[in-house]
Amino acid sequence: MNSFDQYFFKRILIVAYRLPFKLIRKKEESYIVQNSGGLVSAILSLSEKMKSAPDSSSKILWIGTGEKELGNETIHTNFELHPVEIPRKISERYYSGFCNDTIWPLFHYFPSRTVYDNSYFDAYVTANNLFLQQLKNLIKPGDFIWIHDYQLFLLPEMVRKDFPTADIGFFLHIPFPSYELFRLLPKKWRESLLNGMTGADVVGFHTNDYAQHFIKSVKRTLGYKVERNFITVNDRLCKADAFPIGIDFKKFNDACNTQKTNHQKDKLRTYLSGNKLLFSVDRLDYSKGFILRLRAFERFLEKYPEWHFKVVFNMVVIPSRDNIEGYRELKKEIEATVGRVNGKYSTLNWRPIIYQYKSIPFNELVAIYNISEVGLITPLRDGMNLVAKEYVTCQTDHCGMLVLSEMAGAAVELNEAILINPTDTEETSDAINKALSMSDEEKESRMRKMQNRLSRYNVFRWTTDFFNQVNDVKKEQEHMQVKFMDNNSLNSLQVKYKNAQNRLFLIDYDGTLAPIAKLPEMAVLDEKTRDILRKIISDSRNKVVIISGRRKEFIEEQSKDLNAILVAEHGYFIKYPKAAWENNLEIDLSWKKKIQPILNDYVDRCNGSMVEDKYASVVWHYRNADEEIATLRINELKDDLSEILKSEPKLFVLEGDKVLEVKSILYDKGTVASALISKVNYDFILALGDDRTDEDLFKVIPDNGFTIKVGSKPSNARFNVRSQQQIYEILNLFTDASTSKIK
Ligand code: UDP
Repeated sequence: MNSFDQYFFKRILIVAYRLPFKLIRKKEESYIVQNSGGLVSAILSLSEKMKSAPDSSSKILWIGTGEKELGNETIHTNFELHPVEIPRKISERYYSGFCNDTIWPLFHYFPSRTVYDNSYFDAYVTANNLFLQQLKNLIKPGDFIWIHDYQLFLLPEMVRKDFPTADIGFFLHIPFPSYELFRLLPKKWRESLLNGMTGADVVGFHTNDYAQHFIKSVKRTLGYKVERNFITVNDRLCKADAFPIGIDFKKFNDACNTQKTNHQKDKLRTYLSGNKLLFSVDRLDYSKGFILRLRAFERFLEKYPEWHFKVVFNMVVIPSRDNIEGYRELKKEIEATVGRVNGKYSTLNWRPIIYQYKSIPFNELVAIYNISEVGLITPLRDGMNLVAKEYVTCQTDHCGMLVLSEMAGAAVELNEAILINPTDTEETSDAINKALSMSDEEKESRMRKMQNRLSRYNVFRWTTDFFNQVNDVKKEQEHMQVKFMDNNSLNSLQVKYKNAQNRLFLIDYDGTLAPIAKLPEMAVLDEKTRDILRKIISDSRNKVVIISGRRKEFIEEQSKDLNAILVAEHGYFIKYPKAAWENNLEIDLSWKKKIQPILNDYVDRCNGSMVEDKYASVVWHYRNADEEIATLRINELKDDLSEILKSEPKLFVLEGDKVLEVKSILYDKGTVASALISKVNYDFILALGDDRTDEDLFKVIPDNGFTIKVGSKPSNARFNVRSQQQIYEILNLFTDASTSKIK
């Protein structure tokens, strides 16, 4: 059973700003109509599919704003609507305010239109809470909660707080802007939005660029660690990834040749009387680039007069938000521009632009898509743009070509279209001419490639992929969850200790005994830990080894009044209590002269980084460097080093926490630990570490020993603890005062 099938046995709770239907009241009568949008068609298609599944006991519940009466409507047996009520006063500041005057313009790269108003943000928090209250009445164990879009950024974290183990997904349908734009938001808002989103198990975007912008904002704003798109949020993982929304390919494709559509096509052809049809369909919004598109078409008419009397541009604008002043003005500007261009070029028998401000019924839309020779889809920014995908899908005769803005998310998948920058009216006008002049073979070949892709990555794949990712993240979390030390494992550790006579402690220094500090020399052992170690060492049955990658002088200074065995430079040096440092390895270190200048060069190329020259290795530290530059440089550095390593097979590049170390492969923490273990028959071994280098140590500990890693990363260790502070609690288990309580 794949994970998509598994979801048939679950309830899916869709939470989106609007319910997928609205109630229209006309005199005595009222009827419900479907709202438009990619999410609505995706989820309705999914619900149809679930209905026809062998076990159709599963359900979709949709939580969103809408008329109260919709709550009583039965759409399908497996589909419930749950309206959320937001009082008008809050809604104005929440929806018209924070959603549409703050987030929408900023996330579509219109910072000058962005309004910053604290009362908007407060209303946003209140409204997200109202959604939470409704959800709380509905959530049952095993539900999958899928929260959608920029109106509900805070909700995933709110749900997580009340339902810590719930399966939660979040999907953003608009672009996520680059960090430089995102940081324009006040810090408190920025943190709240990102904390809100990372409450989900999976955060989905239409493109990988948006996912990367989000990850960068999370790193810079919240300081969370991110590895391969996995964000560590305290001890939980959250994955950010791209899931480009698809369309119901079959529905659009099949609709091209129905009787109803054919009738519409005939009507259109009569009207066109031989002219080639160009079209655009968009909601009224400044992000759609209407004025620049009209200017580009005007430039096309000016530059390519041979197309006069041969083409007609049908520009359909779907009414939207026209109760808002800015949108009303945009509408006026569009109408004035259409009027001006038509005034300039129209004759008695030819009008180049047909402008329609209205919604188009499905079959009429499909007819336009089907017979148009150019789709002119040129938004200034668009999360995805489904019209572009629908147009390509409906090109069953392959007679047309798509001119598409590279600023639309759809451009990633539709790269056989003619891609343009919408601000470049010259380029767009040339693209129109190119599309009209393209050979039939080329159009067909390009269209087929795009259609194949769209038919494969359709709307079902979108939902399936998302569900699969949530499943995978959950598994990863479960895997980590079981490894955290709980009271039982702590107790058995203590019992094992108490019953043992020969005990060995192998403890890493940085990040384990001492917290990670900004500068290496600041990572000192505090008095509390020193005291506990002293107590442990005072029991003659205990042997404590502090096993570190540090230079011997530093580790000796930190452990000076402790009767511990010290290991420095990952095992190159060892010192028994009251004895001198020993080194039994005979290794040629002449290679260091080749490596040092390379690392020094990278200090110059990466501000804040530094080189540490140890006796047997050389280290590049970049904890205090800009993370992005360091990531870039580290790859370059590894490239440079790999060249040298070809002629130095005994060398090894060790990557630790914000350090890269070049050392010999002939020893590591594991080899030194093995040697120590083999000398005595220990009946209790405990190894503690936090870093990549401690994995070598964990690997050599016998099965009856205990290995504990600090942090929530997967590890060779048997257990994890959440933070370095917990090491103190663990060591405290072995003092007389604690063990005497055990019976
Ligand atoms: N559409 C509609 N009514 C119309 C014409 C089109 O609902 O009169 C649909 C169109 O088929 C498409 C959606 O509206 O699925 C527009 O989605 P898109 O992603 O292109 O833009 P958005 O409105 O989400 O910014």
